Formats: sequence, structure tokens, C-alpha cells
Amino acid sequence: MTTSRISGFYKLTLEERRAKLADASQLRPYNLLPFTNGLSAEAADHMIENTIGTFVLPLGIGLNFMVNGRDVLVPMAIEEPSVVAGASFMAKLARSGGGFIATTTEPLMIGQMQVINITNLEEAKFKLYEHKAELLAEADSIDPVLKKFGGGARDLEVRIIDDSPIGGFLVVHLIYDVRDAMGANAVNTACERLAPKVESITGGKVHLRILSNLADRRLARVRCVIPFKELSFEGYSGDQVRDGIIAAYAFAASDPYRAATHNKGIMNGVDAVVIATGNDWRAIEAGAHAYAARSGRYTSLSTWNKDKDGNLVGTLEMPMAVGIIGGATKVHPAAQAAVKLMNVKTASELAEIIVSVGLAQNMAALRALATEGIQRGHMSLHARQVAIAAGASGDMIEKVAAQMVAEKVVRIDRAEEILKSIKG
Ligand code: NAD
Repeated sequence: MTTSRISGFYKLTLEERRAKLADASQLRPYNLLPFTNGLSAEAADHMIENTIGTFVLPLGIGLNFMVNGRDVLVPMAIEEPSVVAGASFMAKLARSGGGFIATTTEPLMIGQMQVINITNLEEAKFKLYEHKAELLAEADSIDPVLKKFGGGARDLEVRIIDDSPIGGFLVVHLIYDVRDAMGANAVNTACERLAPKVESITGGKVHLRILSNLADRRLARVRCVIPFKELSFEGYSGDQVRDGIIAAYAFAASDPYRAATHNKGIMNGVDAVVIATGNDWRAIEAGAHAYAARSGRYTSLSTWNKDKDGNLVGTLEMPMAVGIIGGATKVHPAAQAAVKLMNVKTASELAEIIVSVGLAQNMAALRALATEGIQRGHMSLHARQVAIAAGASGDMIEKVAAQMVAEKVVRIDRAEEILKSIKG
């Protein structure tokens, strides 16, 4: 059984961490090699155009995560300091309340067809519904592999847009179960294939045929309960921290300026896992923010309240169009290793872990903001990056960073001065 609790992990050397990780995940050390060897330039050359090399990000492990009763070691690819530490610490607190309880809807994606040049929109809409069974049967036959795994066309919906800059047109939504794929290719292919039939039924012209990234039929949900006593630290009582987090959430729930930053914190955790697994983070970002604005006013993706016992309860609900099949998930060796490390067998399981990390990261930011402020924790980690930018290497990095933190001046000019004085 994997354990996600590895004490003192941060104090170990890189080599020691890899050895501990192999032990804790019960994987062979060679399973973890892709995290160091990464993607070869040759493999990269097959992925995009005009390739000249690869761009590498740090990969850290989110610890202490328990999702639906199972320990998970979470690979996180991110350049920003304090995200991995923050998520791991909050996962530890959540663990004391039973961990993260996550669910997903069916993996339904939406493909859109824009039908223009129609004289009677209402009539065309009804005609499409009359031919729904036939259209779905055609869409269903397009991807036999997907069908074999239980996916395929599920529904067809027709919307009328009558106030656009070019006047009225129809939008046909094809609802497609994409199982363990992100699904863009399957859905786009199905839309392109259906277009001629949609044209002959409506007498119009099918213009765009493309997946929607507002994947609101493919949601992941997660909830966690933090016993309020666990929230106390330094001079802050558990009640104080809990109420501070709830008040911070109320700000995000009511104000788009705050909600954007609040949701960015969620995406710190979400994107790190999405990237580590080779998934399309632009798609996830687009879906998240569109979903956050679904009521017409942009708001928080998460909620924070207290239960009858005074414990802190957090929830997060967002679209999660990730796959473990197709796209870069199957091509990038580190993405494959990431999926293996988490021991996920379906895209839904991956989605459940990702939203758990998003909620943990959200809480890390809210807890800091509602108490000592974000800079204290962040700056000590940021100081190391500033020290490196100023030219520090080896032991010097920690020395320069520590002095800047002690002086509470974390700036490149100061880092350069400190470096000069240490060297001199
Ligand atoms: P894909 O086409 O590479 O793989 C999916 C296919 O794998 C399925 O269609 C099916 O034939 C097969 N398959 C095998 N086992 C399966 C299983 N268990 N479950 C489901 N399918 C299985 O990948 P994709 O997920 O369709 O496309 C993802 C890629 O599309 C990403 O790279 C993304 O960046 C890109 N993309 C995104 C957009 C967008 O977000 N708007 C648009 C175009 C392309």
C-alpha cells in the first residue's frame, strides 16, 4: 500500500527523496527515472513544430494526500515556490478530518456546431430534434475504440442564438462520453463528421465545428472537513483561523477582483498536477474561469463554511477535462510516470485527485492570508530564487536567502550586495 506520509522529506537530498518515494509508492526506482531524464529532444520533435529542445520545470511531490480513503503521492510540476509545501501541509490537516472526499460526473464533453444561413431557426431546431436518433447513431459509430471502452455519443441539444453581430444562428451541442481521454480529438472529429447531415437537415451551413472548453457536464467535486482545533498555530486559535478563512472566502464569493486571485490559488494546485500528467492546462484554465462566471458574475470556485461541530468545511466544484489516454499523456515519459505514481486507472480518478490538490492549495493561501499574510512563508522561498538570479550558487544560495529574509529585504540589488560581501 502506498503511503503519502513521509516525514522530513524536505530535509533530504534529491537522491534520498527519490529513494524514499520509490519505497513509499512501492514502485521500482526505474519507474521514477522519467522524472529525471524527462523528455528527449527527439521525442519532443514529434510533439510540436519547429522544435529545438525542451523546457524543463521543477517537479515536486505533494505529500499527505488521502483521496477517497486512499493515500496518493501527487506529482506537481510548477515553477512557483511554496505551492507544493502549502498543499502538502493542508493535506495533512485535511487528513485529520478523513482526507478529501471527491466525486466526478460522467466524462461528458460538449462539441459545438455553429449553423448559419438559416431562414427559420425555430423550424430548423425542431427538425434537428426529429433526426436526433439518426445523428447520434452516426456520431456514435465514429470512434470504435472509444465505443469499446464504453464511450460514445450521448445527446444532442440545439440552442438558438438570435442576438449576435451577424444575426441569428443555431448552435448544436453534441454530448459525447470520452471515457479516459481528454476528448478534444474524438469530439472534434464527431462534429466534423456530422456537419454534412446537419446541413442537409437544416438547409443551413455548418460553420465552426469544435469542442467547448466550458466542460460543465464533466465536473469534479471535492469536500474536506478540517477539525477546527487542527487549525490553531502560533498565536492563532482554531476558531480564529476558521472564521478568518470563512471571511476570506466571503470576499471571493462577493467580489470578482478577489475571486480571480482566489481561483488563481486553486489553479496553482490544479495546474501543477495537470501539467505533470501531460494534460492540456489551457483547456482546464479556460473551463475553470468560464465555469466561475456561469451565473453572469465571476465568483469563487470553492466554498468555505463551518459544520454543526464548528469544524471547517471546504468544497470545490469545477470542470475537469483531463485524460490518461491520448494527447501528451501517452507520449511524455514523465506524464506516464506521474500517472503510475498516483496509481490511477481512470481519468475520473485523476480528476478527483486534481480537485483535491486545488482545494488544499486554496486553503493554504486563505489560511496564510487570514492570519500572518502571504509574504512571510512565500518570501523565504522566493528569496532563494532571488539569490540565484543574483548569481548565487551552491551553499551561497541559502546564505544569501537567509540574510535577506532576516533583513526582510528580498530584492535582487540586496542579494547582489550580500553575495559580494560574502565572497569578498
Ligand atoms: P487522442 O485523440 O490522442 O486520444 C483519444 C482516443 O484514444 C479516443 O478517441 C479513443 O479512440 C482512444 N482510446 C483508447 N482507450 C481509451 C479509453 N480508455 N478512453 C477513451 N479513449 C480511449 O486524445 P484526445 O483526448 O481526444 O485529445 C486531447 C488532445 O487534444 C490534447 O493534446 C489537447 O491539447 C488537444 N486539443 C484541445 C482542444 C481544446 O481544448 N479546445 C482542441 C483541439 C485539440
